[in-house]
Amino acid sequence: MKTTTEYLADNIVAIASGAGYAGVGVIRVSGANLSAVIAGLTHKDELKPRLAYYVDFYAAANEILDSGLVLFFRGPKSFTGEDVLEIQGHGSPVVLNMLLKRCLELGCRMAEAGEFTKRAYLNGKLDLVQAESIADLIHAESEASAKGALKSLKGEFSGQIQQINQQLIHLRMFVEATLDFPEEDIEFIANAKIKSKLELLQHEIHQLLGSTKQGVILNNGANIVIVGRPNVGKSSLLNALANEDIAIVTAIAGTTRDVVRQKIIIDGVPFNIVDTAGIRETDDVVEKIGIERALHAVASADLCMVLIDDNVGMSMADQQILAQLPEALPKLFIHNKIDLSGESPRISQQNEFTQIYLSAREGLGIDLLRAKLLALIGWDNSAGDVFLARTRHLDAMRLTVKHIDNAFSNWQELEILAEELRYAHTALSSITGEFSADDLLGEIFSKFCIGK
Ligand code: GDP
Repeated sequence: MKTTTEYLADNIVAIASGAGYAGVGVIRVSGANLSAVIAGLTHKDELKPRLAYYVDFYAAANEILDSGLVLFFRGPKSFTGEDVLEIQGHGSPVVLNMLLKRCLELGCRMAEAGEFTKRAYLNGKLDLVQAESIADLIHAESEASAKGALKSLKGEFSGQIQQINQQLIHLRMFVEATLDFPEEDIEFIANAKIKSKLELLQHEIHQLLGSTKQGVILNNGANIVIVGRPNVGKSSLLNALANEDIAIVTAIAGTTRDVVRQKIIIDGVPFNIVDTAGIRETDDVVEKIGIERALHAVASADLCMVLIDDNVGMSMADQQILAQLPEALPKLFIHNKIDLSGESPRISQQNEFTQIYLSAREGLGIDLLRAKLLALIGWDNSAGDVFLARTRHLDAMRLTVKHIDNAFSNWQELEILAEELRYAHTALSSITGEFSADDLLGEIFSKFCIGK
């Protein structure tokens, strides 16, 4: 077994461009020393960093495998912080595999999933939020979520966390010092204005919690269950809703999975729609997987749309499905085909039930539904562009808020206050992955001359 350090010192290689045929394909190599790879592959002794070279790529027996561009980045000024070589060959899977094999021959090993980004994180090129945002950017399902991921990658989210972290460190500094030097207790607290600092901190963390929630909605979207008998207008409604974004359906053509699941984008937010009409007994393996996922989505749904033909009303079958859904699941009753029933497009609230009257085919009342859907899942785009966030971040943020709130209600109990602030600091720092006790001590001793 290699030690972690040895493992990290390996030269790693992977095809960086997507699968399939393309004009150009990219292979990326990263490691502590790439001279053997460069010499063996390009027959050049040295590549100047950040300069594109047009070269032939050689096999062991001097046979030419392909020709293309190479770019060399000298660590730490590279994506991973190590030496990096980017090889641009012709984008054929066969050619790229030959180049890959050649790199393996020259001492590289295959990179693990996400290993380039992991090394970038371990070498301090990115924090955890930024590392995660790379994956989120690659998998973004709408322009809005891609933009949000880029904001996180550029450090917008991390920057806000760091700013609050600085305030936390500052506060902890006062409190810990007061604990260590109790004789100066009262004066210290008064001078430090702990309470007002806590108040400010609480205000800012609650604000950041709000934006993080928006970021998670944009990233995860919402799970919506749709109930309604055949011909009530489900497909028409989904098409009408998705109208503004053309790239609606992430169709996996040829499978029956899309019978039960469909994705639409409203205001940049992805909605996973699960059609309960597609949930049925089946022997088809692929369909079974789809249905299992659908049932899982139903269990964790955010909202249920009940579609009714306004001229006919709800069927027994619909009522049976509704009875099986969790009672706490918010339900939106949609009366379709009002062009036939003569109703006008509107929303009405009857007890806890929202009724929307619309026509999917004629496009009447669709805006009402869109706005209602967004509001129900907590989306508020008045804040402008948001950064993308993950559930992990939200959980850590909630924990931080809990401890800051506890600190606030115990601000006069120094021991408890210190403890709560420490918990808050650990929770918040876990988001960017930067916490270490040494940081705090360094901060304290560099800015505070305690010893006198
Ligand atoms: P699904 O089986 O629930 O997916 O229903 P479809 O969306 O396929 O619609 C069934 C039929 O109802 C189609 O002929 C639609 O054109 C029609 N339809 C859907 N919405 C409306 C509407 O608002 N008004 C009218 N008049 N017809 C509609």
